[in-house]
Amino acid sequence: MEFFNFHHHDYTKKFGIYNLKLREVPPLNFFSAGIHPQDITWNFEEDFLWLKTVSKSKNCVSIGECGLDGLIEIDDNLQHEIFLKQIELANALQKPIIIHCVRRFSQLLHFKKKAKVPMIVHGFNKRKTVGEELLKNQFCLSFGKSALYDVNLQDFLKEIPIGQLFLETDSADFEIKDLYYKMAELRGYTIEDFQEKIKENLKNLQITI
Ligand SMILES: [Zn+2]
Repeated sequence: MEFFNFHHHDYTKKFGIYNLKLREVPPLNFFSAGIHPQDITWNFEEDFLWLKTVSKSKNCVSIGECGLDGLIEIDDNLQHEIFLKQIELANALQKPIIIHCVRRFSQLLHFKKKAKVPMIVHGFNKRKTVGEELLKNQFCLSFGKSALYDVNLQDFLKEIPIGQLFLETDSADFEIKDLYYKMAELRGYTIEDFQEKIKENLKNLQITI
């Protein structure tokens, strides 16, 4: 049985969405492509041309990770501009957006209004109130390693709508399978039924596995 890894950085992993590095040549399987806030430079126009080309590939199933980061040196206005450009690209291509967000959750809602495609906040491990606000505004959430042991997060996971959920390793070193088993247990699903739910969620993003 294979377990779909919604967001990861391991080029050799096949079953999931590989997050392409800036200007990297895409793998033969699913990937997402975007300009991470950390990778923003004043030369972003050229990077954006690369992104426009690479994102046309049918294996590019999502734009991202992109978004807002309050802990880095990059100017906020520049971050906003580049995030918005990527939202517009995703709208044009009709591909979902994988979001990186650090300390800027309140601003995300404004950007959500601009998106005509689903938005998935990856690596969610914040307070339940933050998560509830995002869910109410139709964001999906993807959970990683913290969900294996963080009891507060697990409490939240017990009640979130199953249709707005994904699982990922991001860059952490653990088996995605363990997270699937944990979630199935938290929600009282068999592992097969839980996998089926994730498969349906992927289908809602036009990702067929
Ligand atoms: Zn990542």
